[in-house]
Amino acid sequence: MNVRRRLIPTAAVTAVTALALGTLSACSSDSAAAGNTDKFDVVASFYPMAFLAERIGGDHVNVTSLTQPGQEPHDLEISAKQTAQLEETDAALHLKGLQPNVDEAIGQSGVKTKIDAATLTTLETHGAGDGHGHEDEHTDEDHAHEGEDGHEGHSHETEGGKDPHVWLDPVKYAEVAEGVGKAFEKADPDHAADYRKNTETLVGELNALDATLEAGLKNRKGDVFITTHASFGYFAERYGLTEEAINGLDPESEPSAARVKKLAETAKADGVTTIFYETLVSDDTAKTVAKDAGLKTDVLDPLEGITDSSRGGDYFEVMESNLKALQTALGSA
Ligand SMILES: [Zn+2]
Ligand SMILES: [Zn+2]
Ligand SMILES: [Zn+2]
Repeated sequence: MNVRRRLIPTAAVTAVTALALGTLSACSSDSAAAGNTDKFDVVASFYPMAFLAERIGGDHVNVTSLTQPGQEPHDLEISAKQTAQLEETDAALHLKGLQPNVDEAIGQSGVKTKIDAATLTTLETHGAGDGHGHEDEHTDEDHAHEGEDGHEGHSHETEGGKDPHVWLDPVKYAEVAEGVGKAFEKADPDHAADYRKNTETLVGELNALDATLEAGLKNRKGDVFITTHASFGYFAERYGLTEEAINGLDPESEPSAARVKKLAETAKADGVTTIFYETLVSDDTAKTVAKDAGLKTDVLDPLEGITDSSRGGDYFEVMESNLKALQTALGSA
């Protein structure tokens, strides 16, 4: 989107209008930063939020993402420019718990409509012993979901240790979509009918995706899949699978040698064929683990961002690619 190119004329028009009226409205005092267009401006924290805003908002919204394509969203530090942009926008959409720095900036900003996706569905804890199949083989300490490495005193879980990766479960993502649609209707009532219609369409597509995933993963040989970071917890629960993650909820942490050894054992015990890596983080660890355990590697994309190397151009296309990769790995293709 040519946000900036479009903004200059908009700002100029606003300034002229303000002069003509001889008054400064809240809007006209804004600088020409992105997020102040004649449309309903939405600043989204990262791709899955931006996708919802674009699909639900359609022609009526101007969506800007705080996380750039290809940027790993965990631990994003937002710039002074982006903080200023938050003051210009009509709405901010984020998922509290994934990006602490973004949560803080949105919390402190004067944005009129703040939408926290974490409040629009039910978040769960994916900690040790969550209905896991072979608790006897590994102790709580080396279970994948918690990020046993501690990661320098900060957590990528929400307060209370909840897993923020809800968008990978189409059913939970649809619940978030419903909530975002309602928030848009309230914040921009002139276009409420369109927001409602777009939300219905999107929710229908997410329900269809859920059915496709359910059917596509039915006749499988194994249940266990190994990912780089623990992002597929909700997905796994939805379709009766078990995710073992090399890292915890944070993609940049490094696994211990003991963890790598345990994973190799789990892989052997559960007939795992494939170690999955992601497009936005280094595949070094996945490749090392796979080599040690004599396994294949493939991409399972947690959709934390879309780049040219993504296997698909949007959420739905990448989820279809994820299904194919899982079908191959679990022997249901
Ligand atoms: Zn971190
Ligand atoms: Zn588990
Ligand atoms: Zn993640």
